[in-house]
Amino acid sequence: MPLLILDLVRPDDLQSRTNGGLPTDLLRQVKDVGQLHHLAARAWTAMRIAAEADGVQLNPRFPGNAYRPFEQQERIFRERYRAEDTDEGRRLRVQRRPHKMFQGKRWYQRPNTAEAASPGSSNHGWGLAVDVDSVELGGRFPWLERNAVRFGFSWELQSERWHVRYVRAEEVPRAVLDVEANGPGGDDGGTEPKEDDEMTPDQARKLELIYNALCGGLERGGIDPGSIDLGGPILTTHHLAHLLIAGQDRVADPQTIAEAMVEQLDQELVTEIHVALGSELNKRTRGPR
Ligand SMILES: [Zn+2]
Repeated sequence: MPLLILDLVRPDDLQSRTNGGLPTDLLRQVKDVGQLHHLAARAWTAMRIAAEADGVQLNPRFPGNAYRPFEQQERIFRERYRAEDTDEGRRLRVQRRPHKMFQGKRWYQRPNTAEAASPGSSNHGWGLAVDVDSVELGGRFPWLERNAVRFGFSWELQSERWHVRYVRAEEVPRAVLDVEANGPGGDDGGTEPKEDDEMTPDQARKLELIYNALCGGLERGGIDPGSIDLGGPILTTHHLAHLLIAGQDRVADPQTIAEAMVEQLDQELVTEIHVALGSELNKRTRGPR
């Protein structure tokens, strides 16, 4: 499966700020990571607690993988890229290496380096991105793949499995609120029965993915996604749909998209999706037991 890359919504209090030049009152110190924007810090902290409850240490070693002041991003960028008006830059240009714009010049990426955002454009400079240390070890990547979206994080580049960023701005995800209110057990402490009691967390997440994919397809087809209510832990954001469907442009109609999604995600949900897409668009359906 490709990584989920959702559109990022930037928190309102970053609107008039400078990338890499955030005031300290917008940042929070986060264990083992460094500093993050306060909303990203909340989401990351809740996600880390949930991961620990599952025996996964998300970031065990290196602080400094989060917010980066402009100077730090520039240092990293200059290590990995060379300007077009340098000898090495000219050689890299001939080799058709990838390039980025910075200070009005093309900068070419040196071999055996990871991609870096141009200084002033990185989500690390907004305090929204985290580089997960040794993401392939300790069960971190599989755990993130299952849970990151629930906590408001998604990836940014297919080539960077370690780099996730918080995308939900002020719309704090329910999983974050649950951990904040009830600890890593999430909603176990509540007395009110929840809508999704019949679904496993994994199925709830898959249903959420499918719903969002559907919304994107329906909008293209001129159907108001608001006319569908699948019930359960559904996010109203449509960002996911655009991403998931982006790779499937040849698929024109929502039902085909939904079926393709379901095949990838969860066979058990096929029936639910058919109901949702059929004549009973307003029918409230429940997740499978
Ligand atoms: Zn990164």
